[in-house]
Amino acid sequence: MRKFEYLRPEDRARAVDLAANPDVKLLGGGTNLIDLMKIGVETPEFLVDTTRLGLDEIESRADGGLRIGASVRNTDVASDDRVRERFPVLSAAVLAGASGQLRNMATVGGNLLQRTRCAYFQDVTKACNKRKPGSGCPAQTGANRELAILGGSEHCIATHPSDMAVALRALDASVLIETEKGAETIPLADFYRLPGERPDIETNLPYGSLIVAIDIPAPRNGARSSYVKVRDRASFGFALASVAGVLRVADGRVAEVALALGGVAPLPWRARVAEAQLMGAPAEPDRFRAAIDAELEAAQPRPENAFKVTLARRIVVRVLNELAGATREGEAS
Ligand SMILES: Cc1cc2nc3c(=O)[nH]c(=O)nc-3n(C[C@H](O)[C@H](O)[C@H](O)COP(=O)(O)OP(=O)(O)OC[C@H]3O[C@@H](n4cnc5c(N)ncnc54)[C@H](O)[C@@H]3O)c2cc1C
Repeated sequence: MRKFEYLRPEDRARAVDLAANPDVKLLGGGTNLIDLMKIGVETPEFLVDTTRLGLDEIESRADGGLRIGASVRNTDVASDDRVRERFPVLSAAVLAGASGQLRNMATVGGNLLQRTRCAYFQDVTKACNKRKPGSGCPAQTGANRELAILGGSEHCIATHPSDMAVALRALDASVLIETEKGAETIPLADFYRLPGERPDIETNLPYGSLIVAIDIPAPRNGARSSYVKVRDRASFGFALASVAGVLRVADGRVAEVALALGGVAPLPWRARVAEAQLMGAPAEPDRFRAAIDAELEAAQPRPENAFKVTLARRIVVRVLNELAGATREGEAS
């Protein structure tokens, strides 16, 4: 591990100032960044701690939504009563990630910007277009069991590892940032980039951005939400496939729906094709299957990860069935 300097500013203006230096990396809980420094993937000269900037509050918004500070620990997000009540999908997604100890350290800002766990990205002896642009992508024909079936390119098929971001994508969250030029809000829909020819550029964040908070709009009236994740083991495992679902059924038909998929794409994947098919349709299993099948027509599985197509289909149908059942019970009671 190379030598670096640790800085702990106590106000945001100073942190933003420091972030403008290309040799600086902002530090949240350090659960990803420090690991990447140990293996030589990240080599900053300065680490700027963001956890003393007063960004550790969860506040209710006037519209019934929530603003979650960038330094709020993952554990505190998942256990907050307002999160559990208004956005159970978010609480469940956070709890499905990592382990208790890691969640106690990990922050919201760091979780959004954690890097892929693609084995080639994490091995500095291997080629990787994301780590070293133009060096190649051995994953295309190599070990790709965990990698993307949607949204990849010939240059990269790494998946985004965050569970929390998948729930936030289904909840139409936005990211509040600050740079030297001022404050800005970026909808999560525009936050991440598909790899295309530049897998090394992962977000649309302006240079030197400090993530300040996440805004989640008020819950959709009467909608239910839940998160299902499938992984190789019950803890400490990244998603092979996951789904965050939000559903409201009225008179037997889908009145509102949001679906986001994790573990299958380079970013939290909003299933817009499926959503469009579902809106107004009878809330029945065959409609759910047809909708996700339409979404997955765009899938480009590799030999090792073709199973993800079936897996994604099954968990989406399962989540929609469960949410539709819960909605019917809610109507009856
Ligand atoms: C064994 C293991 C298993 C895991 N399993 C899962 C899992 O199943 N699901 C899951 O979602 N996650 C999982 N994680 C990842 C874990 O959730 C992340 O490491 C964590 O969320 C990162 O948060 P952090 O605050 O520690 O980020 P850091 O490591 O501090 O930072 C990560 C990145 O975010 C940037 N950053 C941090 N804060 C800010 C800010 N305020 N503004 C701008 N940039 C910032 C940093 O510069 C860095 O690039 C796992 C991690 C480990 C080690």
